[in-house]
Amino acid sequence: MKRIILYLTVLSLLVVGSWLTYKSYILTTSLVIPKVAIQPFLGMDDASVKEAKKGIERYYGIQVTVLPLIILPPQAKNTHILKKHHLRLPVRYRADSLIAYLRRTKSNDFDYIIGLTNQDISVTKDKKPKWLYTDWGIFGLGYRPGPSCIVSTFRLYRYATLELMHTRLRKIAIHELGHNFGLAHCPSRQCVMQSARETMVTIDTEPENLCHNCENAIKAKFRVCFPEEQLAGKIKK
Ligand SMILES: [Zn+2]
Ligand SMILES: [Zn+2]
Repeated sequence: MKRIILYLTVLSLLVVGSWLTYKSYILTTSLVIPKVAIQPFLGMDDASVKEAKKGIERYYGIQVTVLPLIILPPQAKNTHILKKHHLRLPVRYRADSLIAYLRRTKSNDFDYIIGLTNQDISVTKDKKPKWLYTDWGIFGLGYRPGPSCIVSTFRLYRYATLELMHTRLRKIAIHELGHNFGLAHCPSRQCVMQSARETMVTIDTEPENLCHNCENAIKAKFRVCFPEEQLAGKIKK
């Protein structure tokens, strides 16, 4: 009798075990690998484009295609905003217009497109004083979720060596793509999805990775391979 009970227990454990393995297999294989492209705008230097590509590929464990340089759409300039609000500010490109342009012109070969520019980009913030926030310069912008985002290197050179500037660029690219993948801003100090809070200090003090919660949210939707899994895969081999 004891033997039969033991036999049945082992058998049921095996059945449950294989069912769970099968379920996780189905779940992983049904997730899609996001197809990502970088669209550099004229003026972007090669080395920075390569850094953004490297940052995304290394962190998300996916392939990124770099598209040939194109000119910035002149209609995205802030001229009409400055005129309307009687502001005397330098020429910047409106981040929302660039995102819309990238979304409209995106090839169906890609699910996501990241624009890279060396020009200053801006948004209107619902804050006072109006003269300051009507055309507020930013590092990057990406809607959540969305097929396109934009990153500017214009503000990343401040008090920085080239190495630090490249680190900032990789972090912002991972952040904006994170928004496109569906992530909101994250309260964790151990997460690249923190809101920059209008300062470079946030970017310089955050790590170049997501926190566990944000990683899990991405893993539930996409077939990506974060560094710890890349490492586990290498050890297994
Ligand atoms: Zn953000
Ligand atoms: Zn997070």
